[in-house]
Amino acid sequence: MLNIVLFGPPGSGKGTQSERLTGKYNLVHLSTGDIFRSNIKEETELGKLAQSYMSKGQLVPDSLTIDLLRSEVLKYENPKGFIFDGFPRTNAQAKALDDFLSSQNTSITLMLALEVGEDELKMRLLKRSEVSGRVDDADPAIIENRIRVYNNETAPVKDYYSQQGKFIPIDGIGAIDDITSRLFSAIDAKN
Ligand code: AMP
Repeated sequence: MLNIVLFGPPGSGKGTQSERLTGKYNLVHLSTGDIFRSNIKEETELGKLAQSYMSKGQLVPDSLTIDLLRSEVLKYENPKGFIFDGFPRTNAQAKALDDFLSSQNTSITLMLALEVGEDELKMRLLKRSEVSGRVDDADPAIIENRIRVYNNETAPVKDYYSQQGKFIPIDGIGAIDDITSRLFSAIDAKN
């Protein structure tokens, strides 16, 4: 299996690039953010709980997120692999993902980390709010908080995969097609 963690701060292009990677490599795209948002839309209990964190730009608690991710993975029979988009966001999630994948006789192949500076991220998120309708994209204070949470809690996950020799930084600035080509090259070199 080809299991990719597509990593990066909010607004770094994970969702856009995930779609391109799933198309080329025939992978399942799992975005915990998308799953939470669809639960919010359907007004499930999980959605209500998740919204109380997401609306402030905080992380949804690990236990809830890990359980959700595991049950999503198990929905697919004989997948070619997964793109994990927006997961793991903490070292505890990364460890839980490793343990879970190993119980399924597979593992993470590599982590591709999109690198984009903070000013560019803030600009992209505000622009995205015009079409996404996401409240967490529209409010500069929430954006600041998401970036702070990323720097404090999520960025250390890079070290986790670096220690396993799986971390590959990718320049996330430039034309979308160029960034896609960089991702393809990194995957093809490893695959
Ligand atoms: P995203 O769509 O990936 O930007 O995620 C939107 C929001 O969903 C985040 O700001 C978090 O509140 C929540 N979320 C998504 N994925 C995770 C995760 N792996 N761990 C905790 N919270 C998450």
